[in-house]
Amino acid sequence: MRYFPLFHDLRDAACLVVGGNEAAARKVRLLQRTEARLHIVAPELNEELAALASAGEVEWHARRFRAKDLEDKSLVIAASGDERVDGRVSRLARARRLPVNLVDRPALSSFIVPGMVDRNPVTIAIGSGGSAPVLVRQLRERIEALLPARLGDLARFADRFRPAVKSVIPGEEGRRHFWSRFFRGPVAEAVLQGDDRRATDGMLTLVNSAPEGRDNQQGSVALVGVGPGDPDLLTFRALRLMQEADVVVHDRLISEGILDCVRRDAERIHVGKAKGAHSMSQDEINRLLVQQARAGKLVVRLKGGDPFIFGRGGEEQAYLQTHEIAVQVVPGITAATGCAATAGIPLTHRDMASAVTFATGYSREGLPDLDWQALAAARQTLVVYMGVSNGGEIAKRLMDKGLSAQTPIAVVEKGTLPEQRVLGSHLADLGDLLKREQVEGPAVLMIGSVAASAQNLTPAETPLALAV
Ligand code: SAH
Repeated sequence: MRYFPLFHDLRDAACLVVGGNEAAARKVRLLQRTEARLHIVAPELNEELAALASAGEVEWHARRFRAKDLEDKSLVIAASGDERVDGRVSRLARARRLPVNLVDRPALSSFIVPGMVDRNPVTIAIGSGGSAPVLVRQLRERIEALLPARLGDLARFADRFRPAVKSVIPGEEGRRHFWSRFFRGPVAEAVLQGDDRRATDGMLTLVNSAPEGRDNQQGSVALVGVGPGDPDLLTFRALRLMQEADVVVHDRLISEGILDCVRRDAERIHVGKAKGAHSMSQDEINRLLVQQARAGKLVVRLKGGDPFIFGRGGEEQAYLQTHEIAVQVVPGITAATGCAATAGIPLTHRDMASAVTFATGYSREGLPDLDWQALAAARQTLVVYMGVSNGGEIAKRLMDKGLSAQTPIAVVEKGTLPEQRVLGSHLADLGDLLKREQVEGPAVLMIGSVAASAQNLTPAETPLALAV
């Protein structure tokens, strides 16, 4: 290893930046995150640096660099853009053993500035010894995406309670155990969600009951929406929880690509719910979630799309709350919006649809009891979930209530997945289309003028939507 990573304490340290251009400004921006005193030496400053100087945030010496500028400095950055000036700064600084960096010139630098992920006080530095800056940037983006925005708050929160925990759990091993469970538990989650009151209350309870035993930290459940199937459509929060989970509970609709994002060591429980062939009843799933959380685990319940849209997330949430298990809900991209985007169908449109309705096309009794009259009104979009088996009947009801037989429709099957199909037609043809094309689902039915703009149509011999 040629470059050894270190964290340099810059509180009250005087740092020198030579140069007033954009490259200098980039370094100043980074240094401003510290409590260093910044000195800029440059005959001229760009707009951004000039504003900082007049606000008194940096001290500007409006002239060329002099050797004397290095006196009393802890760190030097040469960014004038003039090779001769920067080279001289480097030579003089190195003669004094002062750490010096030249922008993009590792050979003349005694240190290089790493890629940073900043969740102060948690800081991650990434370097490639100058060999692959683009790779470093990509790694940084990936780590950025994985780490919760409030990670720094969590570190500060833990720090605040460190003395209290120490006084109730004197043994080092017991404390380590406490903290390792704490950082994956519901109190830490509350901090990450910015709910300081719930976090503080929860922490006080934990600390006050700590001496009774170290297994008092109950787990929690996250109902996580994972979108319609494409893993790229996961939210940062969903991905993070999937990476932290002890147990992942999922059913048949969750795609392989998404399951690949789950932490390898997490236990996976397949509750395989398929329409008509429940391998575990909802009651059994509810009980399973409670039982796992009570065992102290971080349980992630994966839900296709959004947990609160035809996902029975409400029932699971209520059950968990009744059993006093901490539960959080992570929204996901629902099938309607995921499929609309991939099929190029705007769900609302100033000229065609001022409202959009998500309805279910299935109930145990057959066709659900919907207000067909309201759904048949013009200038709106209807998206039917779970509507494949009743598609023909749904079209008939809508036409009975006056919706034109020529209303454009689109069927999006396995939307956002590699096997996606987008089929276009008109309302009177819906039932037939589903049979003709042997649509198996999961699929959404989109009904309304906007469906005429469906793109990425599957090149089967489907009749195009007729103009209305
Ligand atoms: N909570 C989910 C919906 C669960 S109900 C959500 O918010 O999307 C299951 C229904 O969702 C399926 O019958 C189908 O209508 C729809 N669906 C789920 N994934 C889909 C996909 N990739 N493409 C099309 N429809 C999908």
